[in-house]
Amino acid sequence: MTDPVYLDNAATTPLDPRVLEAMLPHLGGRRGNPSSLHAFGDSAREGLEEARAGVASLIGASPGEIVFTSGGTESDDLAVLGLARSAGPDKRHAVVSCVEHAAVREATKRLQSEGFEVSWIGVDEDGLVDPAEFAASLRRDTVLAAVMWANNEVGTVEPVLELADICAAKDVPFHADAVQAAGRVPIDVSETPVSTLALSGHKLYGPQGIGALYVREGVSLEPIVYGGGQEKGLRSGTENVVGIVGLGTAARLAREEMDDRVTHERELRDRIMAGVEEIPDVLVNGHRGRRLSNNVHLTVSGVQAESLVLFLDSLGYAVGSGSACSSGGHKASPVLLAMGLPEREAFSVVRITVGKDNTLEEVDDFLEAFSTAVAQLRELSPLYAG
Ligand code: PLP
Repeated sequence: MTDPVYLDNAATTPLDPRVLEAMLPHLGGRRGNPSSLHAFGDSAREGLEEARAGVASLIGASPGEIVFTSGGTESDDLAVLGLARSAGPDKRHAVVSCVEHAAVREATKRLQSEGFEVSWIGVDEDGLVDPAEFAASLRRDTVLAAVMWANNEVGTVEPVLELADICAAKDVPFHADAVQAAGRVPIDVSETPVSTLALSGHKLYGPQGIGALYVREGVSLEPIVYGGGQEKGLRSGTENVVGIVGLGTAARLAREEMDDRVTHERELRDRIMAGVEEIPDVLVNGHRGRRLSNNVHLTVSGVQAESLVLFLDSLGYAVGSGSACSSGGHKASPVLLAMGLPEREAFSVVRITVGKDNTLEEVDDFLEAFSTAVAQLRELSPLYAG
């Protein structure tokens, strides 16, 4: 049997063999604690600082502005909770979009339970935040605003430069979750005045369980983990050196190869979109132009998402049902509801996300399998009138 074809790169990406190679020495003889003074400590510290520079270079930051965390979720939590809790008692209001990943959404709900007031900003039918509505919601007591750089479900790329400029003009800290955007969309924090920005290793062909938070020089954050004071006191705990070296290498490669990767992904993505749109009652969700290079998000009328994902799996193709982190649950995605999709249709969505290693041949074979699966499931479906 041939290997299954992986088309769920928004959920996680395969580990790049070059990243693995860079990590291996830190698992073996060179392992030390970066806080130790001896040669083993030196070697770990060198790996750590080289990785910090690698991550910084992907987003135009200074290495000293990078804090390593356990992943995108912790980075988002640290930003949202950390910014809010570090402000004075007169700042008790947050502005957060309705389409954020659960990491930002749940951290924001935590703030609500601590007495903060939250303005949840809606989106249009393509998933875009309206800068005018966003600007109007900022207040004198706003402690932070958060809008993701690109959406993990539908792939819409938000007008982050505009939003960050609006916040900078009003002196409101702005957090951007760039977990899906990094490596696909050029990010330069020297031009986009974000205060904090979240990254995750496993969306960038790096390891799982490692992430980073960019914290602009001068921005103050209350930590959410207490202990030995590592990472300038913002993230205590002995650093995950192996993971950090992996993230640093992955970030460096992403910067060097971004243009080629994006061109390749776009070609695959557009071929999938053109192919699936020939099937009746299949609709693409998310913005057409402002869209991640790897994302195809579809409503397939009359078909239950999980059935389609499992059918495709049996044919050798791995795709996502809705959002990576909410799959398995049976609630309609808040992102799709915010975009105005009827609840019924929000259970008929699949997400196909290509990656740098997918091929045109895989995509062509996938399109055949997809059309077979949809036709067969619709034949069985009482939901589909055709
Ligand atoms: N933010 C976005 C936009 C994501 O897509 C994800 C993961 O799917 C996360 C945050 C969480 O990242 P991690 O899995 O590294 O915790």
